Amino acid sequence: MGEIIDGRKLADEMQANMAETVASMVKKPGLVVIIVGENPASQTYVRNKEKTAVKIGIHSKIDRLPETVSEDELVSLIETYNQDDNFHGILVQLPLPKHIDEDRILLAIDPRKDVDGFHPFNVGKMMTGQAEMIPCTPYGIMKMFEAYNVDLNGKHAVMVGRSNIVGKPMMHLMLDANATVTVAHSRTVDLAAVTKEADILVVAVGQGHLIDKSYVKPGAVVIDVGMNRSPEGKLIGDVNFEEVKDVASLITPVPGGVGPMTITMLMDQTIRNAQK
Ligand code: NDP
Repeated sequence: MGEIIDGRKLADEMQANMAETVASMVKKPGLVVIIVGENPASQTYVRNKEKTAVKIGIHSKIDRLPETVSEDELVSLIETYNQDDNFHGILVQLPLPKHIDEDRILLAIDPRKDVDGFHPFNVGKMMTGQAEMIPCTPYGIMKMFEAYNVDLNGKHAVMVGRSNIVGKPMMHLMLDANATVTVAHSRTVDLAAVTKEADILVVAVGQGHLIDKSYVKPGAVVIDVGMNRSPEGKLIGDVNFEEVKDVASLITPVPGGVGPMTITMLMDQTIRNAQK
């Protein structure tokens, strides 16, 4: 059986170190999270972000706006926080209601305070190997590789999924770490043949248990980003953990793998911004 990557433990250790750093800072890092509407999943994510920020000692504020808020109102609120020295990170929780243009909102955030790393300026910096603000999920996965001594140099990494928030940034980071990277997606023909070539397999698809052991090369490192509900209402990953853990050399569980690291990296980037 492969070793299990304990994302919860790693996140707790990193958060404890961050709390010490913050305790020694005269001006505390500040993070504002803006949430529009009542999407229950988004509400949970935002609550968790606030809880973690408070635990670390980050000054945190949540702005809850009604579903009916206009795009212009949202932009002007963001502009106020761009000018406010008390906040080093601004995060607008996605998705936004349909009448609001997400691209315009992301562009409105000062790239220096874009702790999600979704602003086109930061995307461009990452593409050119000069990343400053990195999308938190891929950033957390790179930290896991570091903590578990996974060396990507010369390895074949397969990324399943090509979203702007996970798949594409993950592709860049693994490429910069000198892996040979293949990106698979819904149009990939014979996905299992592709994933079976992977020394490192990262899956961010959003389909419960899509990847079983027939998709995995023995000894591979398997990272499961997926968060799905099983028919019984249980939180499950994109990878069938029970099967794949016997084939993989290292594997993340769901829950307790990638999720806690994502939130931790958000705090890390907020603190780093405050230190600049
Ligand atoms: P998206 O829906 O934006 O992207 C999914 C990707 O998977 C797409 O590129 C899609 O291909 C591809 N895909 C869909 N079906 C298949 C298939 N059968 N075979 C191969 N590829 C397929 O999702 P996200 O990247 O935003 O999220 C993915 C999952 O990760 C979700 O479960 C989400 O909840 C979770 N997540 C977890 C986070 C965490 O912190 N733990 C953070 C972010 C996301 P195509 O482009 O062709 O449509």
